[in-house]
Amino acid sequence: MSFETVRDAIHSLTPIFYLITVVLFIFGLKLLQSPRTARKGNLLSAVGMLIAIVATLLGQGILNYAFVLIIMAVGSVIGVYLAYKVKMTDVPQFVAILNGFGGAVSAVVGIAEFLVYFQTGQTPGGVDKLQFLTAVAADAFIGTLTFWGSLIAFAKLQGLISEKSFVLWGKNVFNALFLLAALVTGAFLVTVGNGLDFSHGPADVTSAAWFLGGVVLAATLLGLTLAMAVGGADMPIIIALFISYAGLSASALGFTNANYGLIMAGSLVGASGLILTRSMAKAINRNFWAILLGNITPPAHQTTSKDDIYAGRIKTTTPEEYVGVLDAAQTIVIVPGYGMAVAQAQGACRDLFNELSAEGKEVYFAVHPVAGRMPGHMNVLLAEVNIPYDRLKELDESNELLENADVAIILGANDVVNPMARDARDTPIYGMPILDVDKAGSILVIKRSLSPGFSGIPNPLFVLDKTLMMFMDAKPALQELVKAWKER
Ligand code: NDP
Repeated sequence: MSFETVRDAIHSLTPIFYLITVVLFIFGLKLLQSPRTARKGNLLSAVGMLIAIVATLLGQGILNYAFVLIIMAVGSVIGVYLAYKVKMTDVPQFVAILNGFGGAVSAVVGIAEFLVYFQTGQTPGGVDKLQFLTAVAADAFIGTLTFWGSLIAFAKLQGLISEKSFVLWGKNVFNALFLLAALVTGAFLVTVGNGLDFSHGPADVTSAAWFLGGVVLAATLLGLTLAMAVGGADMPIIIALFISYAGLSASALGFTNANYGLIMAGSLVGASGLILTRSMAKAINRNFWAILLGNITPPAHQTTSKDDIYAGRIKTTTPEEYVGVLDAAQTIVIVPGYGMAVAQAQGACRDLFNELSAEGKEVYFAVHPVAGRMPGHMNVLLAEVNIPYDRLKELDESNELLENADVAIILGANDVVNPMARDARDTPIYGMPILDVDKAGSILVIKRSLSPGFSGIPNPLFVLDKTLMMFMDAKPALQELVKAWKER
């Protein structure tokens, strides 16, 4: 059987392959709901993606496959290299930039198809002209907005620009104007493109190109102002939101060329990104609809200084001293945070868990939804070292446990246990539900110094009578605790 015959056979079955892909994506997403099955879910989705890529390439008719394979090899090498090289703690900005590239690719492909249309008068896949032009405008708008917004999110998280929120004067008015400009130029683009006459050869692209440029420019400005306005503890939400937008731009691209796989996969990403945005918003008590419109209002300037809170009121301890407290405790709740990820202390944490559990202590992990720097960050690290899943507790359940816990160990966490979130209106974390560790019998905080967490504010938890600070890197601190426990 010749290559052409196989290709034609696959081509005629393309919709079926896309359907298989989407079914695999849906099952993949379902499996991603639990850390126990997440790897399988990832693999299943990757297989789905491979099927879609092969079906798309073979379904294209004449292609320079050698060229395509070279491009794919270069992309794969860079992707694999980055996946190994990027540190766990840098994953959020990695996700942000990859997502931005997704948006950019959608926009660029849509624009390329638009230029071809002006040459030939033919829409890809023979889709209706009006549908094609509307989808090009939507795709260019959402894809460009996603690219610039994600680029800013990347720059903020990577520390290339200040992480603080920068709000343009009259931001809402400007954003409304940018949106209106995009709608108007988009409408002109569709009208001009739809009324073209191709009977005398290729059409003049000039006027329509200006309108397309208008859509791209408005989307750029909107993406920049939306992302610049977000800072502090709200970064996770904007990343989740851009994930959703990248999906929507892919879906819009699917409408330009009747690619059902792209439409369905893009809608899945769009919908799951929105669900993620909603749960992140709930986790830090922000209004979902306001976020959707880019109104993540930064709090008033924070006035409480570190010196007002800490001055001379900090009590410290060492691993050797602290084992006595652990010995007397029955229920121990460990609260992991970003510092555990930085220190790569999850293995040492599992060792302490094993030691304490072996002597009949009830040990749990309280996992805050935005602990660390990406959704599910702590779950991934704890699953990696095989902490039993039934020991991982979500926010509400953790807070019930904390009320009766003898000891809470705060392991490189800070914002997610900061009581200022309850009543300090002038802080970026105000209103975020926190883990109520101050209700536990006693508190041990393991961190290297009195440096603040992501939101940059001090933490009054550190000066409570029942709090002891262990100023150490999380990994050696846990290793020494385990050693002292065995030797006690
Ligand atoms: P925080 O960022 O509030 O605090 C982390 C603490 O870890 C710091 O105070 C730091 O103190 C300590 N630390 C750093 N390195 C080490 C180390 N090697 N050993 C021990 N301690 C260390 O972390 P949380 O997890 O409590 O909160 C997460 C914050 O990040 C929230 O504000 C959240 O909104 C935000 N965020 C979350 C995202 C997500 O999706 N999960 C994404 C982006 C932001 P010290 O330097 O003194 O050691």
